[in-house]
Amino acid sequence: MSAPSSVAETFTPGQPAGEKTAGGTMGSTQISPDRPQGDTARDRLLSSTAAWFDSDGLFNVLAPRVACPSESQDPRGAPHLQAYLSEQIQPALEAMGFTVEILSNPSGKGGPLLLAERIEDVSLPTVLGYGHGDVIRGQENSWTRGQGPWTLCADGDRWYGRGTADNKGQHSINLCAMEQVLRARALEQGLPTANWAEARLGFNAKWLIETGEEAGSPGLHQACRTWRDRLSADVLIASDGPRLQPSRPTMFMGSRGAMNFDLVVDLREGGHHSGNWGGLLANPGLILAHAIASIADERGSIQVPEWRPNSLTPAVRQALNGLQVDGGEGGPSIDEQWGEPGLTPAERVFAWCSFEVLAFETGNPAQPVNAIPPRARAHCQLRHVVGIDASDILPALRRHLDAHGFQQVRVEKFPKGEFPATRLDPDHPWVKWTARSIERSTGQAPAILPNLGGSLPNDAFSVDLGLPTVWIPHSYPSCSQHAPNEHLLASVARQALMLMAGVYWDLGEAAAQALPRIQR
Ligand SMILES: [Zn+2]
Repeated sequence: MSAPSSVAETFTPGQPAGEKTAGGTMGSTQISPDRPQGDTARDRLLSSTAAWFDSDGLFNVLAPRVACPSESQDPRGAPHLQAYLSEQIQPALEAMGFTVEILSNPSGKGGPLLLAERIEDVSLPTVLGYGHGDVIRGQENSWTRGQGPWTLCADGDRWYGRGTADNKGQHSINLCAMEQVLRARALEQGLPTANWAEARLGFNAKWLIETGEEAGSPGLHQACRTWRDRLSADVLIASDGPRLQPSRPTMFMGSRGAMNFDLVVDLREGGHHSGNWGGLLANPGLILAHAIASIADERGSIQVPEWRPNSLTPAVRQALNGLQVDGGEGGPSIDEQWGEPGLTPAERVFAWCSFEVLAFETGNPAQPVNAIPPRARAHCQLRHVVGIDASDILPALRRHLDAHGFQQVRVEKFPKGEFPATRLDPDHPWVKWTARSIERSTGQAPAILPNLGGSLPNDAFSVDLGLPTVWIPHSYPSCSQHAPNEHLLASVARQALMLMAGVYWDLGEAAAQALPRIQR
């Protein structure tokens, strides 16, 4: 399924390395940008899309969006959440012929959501797009590159600014790609240039933009259940998160789930002198350490049978075969001898569960005293893939601890950060179709991950809306998302704009009409 990545090198790059593009250079990542050499309408679309990018088109669209301080974790951002939707997204969608509505959050808390639709013919396939207009805190005082969080600033291949990677840059790429396709279709259909928005895409499009993703997506699931009919579609195609590597187009179809919990050993009221009582009183730190050691062995291999997924199928193995996990510049190096024996790093992070001890305390590490501490606590997490029963994660742990004699260890579920795991089979027709489209535009078979290693509210789409979910990320692992110096790579953005234009073009072609449809 994954062609050798050397395919990319057989194409002549359209621009010499180092040439300026929209204030950036093509030097640092090896991306072959201008695949189309022929003269079909599709080739002309990709060329005109690249030319639009090179004339600073995307940069100029993104700059005012980055300038909007739409922080969702801070009350000062609240007015900007609404403004982002009404001033940035709504006009862009209406210009493309969408009907747009901004709705207050159905949960009663959290920012508004934007729903848009452009229906050409109910018999055509419908594609739902998603993005989030909110960002995490600006962290104004910590930026050392660019011009702070609220000014889009090009420096070499990097475009600095809050939201460039997560998620304003990504959904802006997709919206702009859709506009480029409309303009190309208008030309093909003989419409006057000014009437480009009246062109037929050949499919129906819907968009959902929320403004609370960085605050746990309040109301997103409720919105998908409440507005299920309005959001009905045949597939979700959306962009968030990182590519596997900057130069490798990537798709993922779900995300790992997460469950956080505390393990607690609480033996008595206070501490007791370790000389007078040592050997007489049980030590809670030791008991907890042994309990943790029964959960995962010395290399982190999970020992709780119910936490070992049965979903590493040949199709998943084949999709992950040969994929190199690489954090990019500044990322840590992988511990080869860590994790489940016999699995590749890609299988360990994308197709297996991982158990982590995130914090562990007994006594007072800052000021140790010669006393047997009364209690010990560890904050732990299981990242899990589909193929284990999420509702049985903590009951299975309880059974495991009891079977190993650790009745004294209490399991306390942590109230936040719970995500279900989702995944679409790499053999699903929408996956294969999208991969072919991307390969046609870039000359590179995309890396296909059954799911992201991290977590996303993808179950809102896969479960609540019942859609196949295809994610095409436009960022990369070292983009400083959620940190100062967040940036988008111009070279990746340029290629992403072209490949998304290719996807939206191909959706309007007859071949796409035979794809699986959701019966309504
Ligand atoms: Zn984020």
